[in-house]
Amino acid sequence: MTAKGNVFVVSAASGTGKTSLTAALAAVNDCVQVAVSHTTRKPREGEINGVHYHFVDTATFEQMIGDGAFIEHAFVHGNYYGTSANEVEKIRNQGTDVILEIDVQGAEQVRRQMPDAVSVFILPPTMDALRQRLLARGTEDEAQLALRLQNARQEFEQASLFDYLVVNDDLPTATQDLMHIVYATRLRQSNNNAALISLMQ
Ligand code: 5GP
Repeated sequence: MTAKGNVFVVSAASGTGKTSLTAALAAVNDCVQVAVSHTTRKPREGEINGVHYHFVDTATFEQMIGDGAFIEHAFVHGNYYGTSANEVEKIRNQGTDVILEIDVQGAEQVRRQMPDAVSVFILPPTMDALRQRLLARGTEDEAQLALRLQNARQEFEQASLFDYLVVNDDLPTATQDLMHIVYATRLRQSNNNAALISLMQ
């Protein structure tokens, strides 16, 4: 029987580059997969249903909440987002590690429900770098930019609740850091017990 995959929670303030980071990790490591969340947000250009998100309407999302389908869910920037238990278990049951790329509210729910989950908070190198990255995206006006930077400061206050902090200054270095966390988790005593038991028989 294949051992179940580990669960990793990755959170960061908007503009920190966590999507590129988790995508880079999954691209170089077959045994890691990013879970596809459900959301009521409208798809952006280029986003594909079932690949970037499962895009659903509010009635469907609320029905799923009522059915207890989500491990966690939150209302973020005016839309629902949630991780379904089905999605996570489907990946874990293949022995593949699963990454939940979710906000800090969702991270707190997962921490309570899945004490074995490993949580990682991604930091920008400086506030100025974060500001520059948000500016470069060109999707925010001055007021939205100020709001996102203020939200980022509030999210940093929660960073101390996470197991690991990774600074995303240089993408390849940050990807390596994340990979080391994944590898170290695979060597946890609880994950590696079969090796010990076989020696003692
Ligand atoms: P975006 O709309 O830019 O794709 O994501 C907005 C925020 O929602 C990001 O912080 C993202 O990490 C978060 N998010 C995405 N999926 C989930 C989810 O399933 N649960 C929670 N709690 N947050 C999510």
